Amino acid sequence: PVVPASDFVRDTVRRDNEQGTYGSRVQTRFPPEPNGYLHIGHAKAITVDFGVAEDFGGTCKLRFDDTNPETEDEEFVQSIIDDIRWLGYTPDDIVYASDYFEQLYAWAELMVERGLAYVDEQDSETISAQRGGYGQPGVESPFRDTAPEDNLAKLRAMRAGEFADGSRVLRAKIDMQHENMQLRDPIMYRIRRGHHHRTGDAWCIYPTYDWAHGQSDAIEGVTHSLCTLEFESHRPLYNWFLEQLPLPGDTPKQLEFARLELTHTVTSKRRLAKLVHEGLVEGWDDPRMPTISGLRRRGYPAAAIRDFCRYVGVNRTNSRPSIELLESFVRRELNRTAQRRMAVIRPLKLVITNWPTSADGSPVVEHFSVVNNPENEADGSREVAFSGELYIERDDFAEVPPPKYFRLSPGREVRLRGAYFVTATDVVKDAEGNVVEVHCTYDPQTRGGTAPDGRKVKSTMHWVSAQHAVDATAVLYDRLFSTEAPGAATGEPLDDLNADSRELLSGCKVEAALAETVPGTVVQFERLGYFAHDPRTPMLFHRTVGLKDEWAA
Ligand code: ATP
Ligand code: MG
Ligand code: MG
Repeated sequence: PVVPASDFVRDTVRRDNEQGTYGSRVQTRFPPEPNGYLHIGHAKAITVDFGVAEDFGGTCKLRFDDTNPETEDEEFVQSIIDDIRWLGYTPDDIVYASDYFEQLYAWAELMVERGLAYVDEQDSETISAQRGGYGQPGVESPFRDTAPEDNLAKLRAMRAGEFADGSRVLRAKIDMQHENMQLRDPIMYRIRRGHHHRTGDAWCIYPTYDWAHGQSDAIEGVTHSLCTLEFESHRPLYNWFLEQLPLPGDTPKQLEFARLELTHTVTSKRRLAKLVHEGLVEGWDDPRMPTISGLRRRGYPAAAIRDFCRYVGVNRTNSRPSIELLESFVRRELNRTAQRRMAVIRPLKLVITNWPTSADGSPVVEHFSVVNNPENEADGSREVAFSGELYIERDDFAEVPPPKYFRLSPGREVRLRGAYFVTATDVVKDAEGNVVEVHCTYDPQTRGGTAPDGRKVKSTMHWVSAQHAVDATAVLYDRLFSTEAPGAATGEPLDDLNADSRELLSGCKVEAALAETVPGTVVQFERLGYFAHDPRTPMLFHRTVGLKDEWAA
């Protein structure tokens, strides 16, 4: 049994349990609107909503808050279900606010009959102007005192489709002078003829968030309705609606926690949708996106995302942790789980001029056994082929070595990891004078990578045998936005979009074992970082994260 962590949400739940507010029941929900893909901010809400239920032996349903027909879509519904499962949570049920449209409507008629709601025929500009502002009086609608039976007829006509979109709304009759704007006769229903992804054309009036949310919570038996801080001012309205209605059971309680944002990215579905629709990224699951599907394609382990969210914690102060912090959780997890492989992403040919040939005249091929993951013995080892023609990283050779450069250069001896010591003797250049081949001699005495005479080399480099190498493409990523808080200066995050956030390297030469990497899994390319095998395109590898924090200024 795990003792639930202490934070203001869990403390409230614990107190309710002790006082028997809901008996010992704990029920939460995660309520996304299916109008986009989930992002890292939602991951936090998911870990809170599902995590609290789990900690107290309660339940958590996934509820689609599908009350805006125009922007919602079945594609988003499916992606949300997949992303939650992938993050490691299983909803106790999958439900939809649209399941409650009849009940919500019946309650709306009840509100009208009791003189607590009225149909307003003014246009939306007039209604919002009359709402006033903080410290400014509100103006009552001329429709506010319509008799209940007339309102009921009008509401029924609204539902029957007798009025144009936007021509009427149903409003709660609360208090046009209330200091909280949310209580100045808020809108409960609007007329919209969008085709709904589940109810089709059955409805032409749709409930607002405020009219749908608390009532949906109550219908399901939610005890603690956890949401983000921007809903704090809605809480009195949430409670007011619930107080007016004959609820089937307990009255749920709304608690608000801080939103999560991350440096160098945006966490708003609307803004992420813009990146997708304007073609600035390849799609919702572009590996640069902070969406759950983007992070997954990039190779972020679900456990790392969960650990990060837990570390950030549940509090009431909005924060923007650094993306480097998230990456540190990713690196820690991958160091434990990712198998090591040798891959050369910018190849330079290395020819061993004293390499032996076999009887048939072809170069000898040797095999070295290499450990798959020094952090996990159970991962075993594999054989890697070695021969007289190899590829090394272009960066690992310098014809004229700069100061403190200890890798290969003419006359210098280095270790080819796990294989032999080699010494550069010569280079071959193309017409422009670029080095296209390095010639070396090897020392047969150094097999396995150590010299019997104890001599040391200052550098160990990865390599692949040219004859055995497999072609691959690697994609390296930079920040999607160049500033920590995109849009802070101009209000438009796209102004801070990094125009150069992706580098595609085709023509990589990688060891043969990489061809067997299961799509979607992450391996460590030795010395280069962690790379995720694309789930759809074979031999395409996305760099998840470097081996060290390379962004630190
Ligand atoms: P967006 O502004 O990105 O559209 P939203 O709040 O409208 O986000 P919903 O689909 O309504 O998105 O969100 C579902 C749940 O996730 C809500 O409870 C919401 O409060 C929570 N949530 C959304 N964004 C964040 C965030 N950045 N950090 C924490 N929780 C979030
Ligand atoms: Mg929302
Ligand atoms: Mg939204």
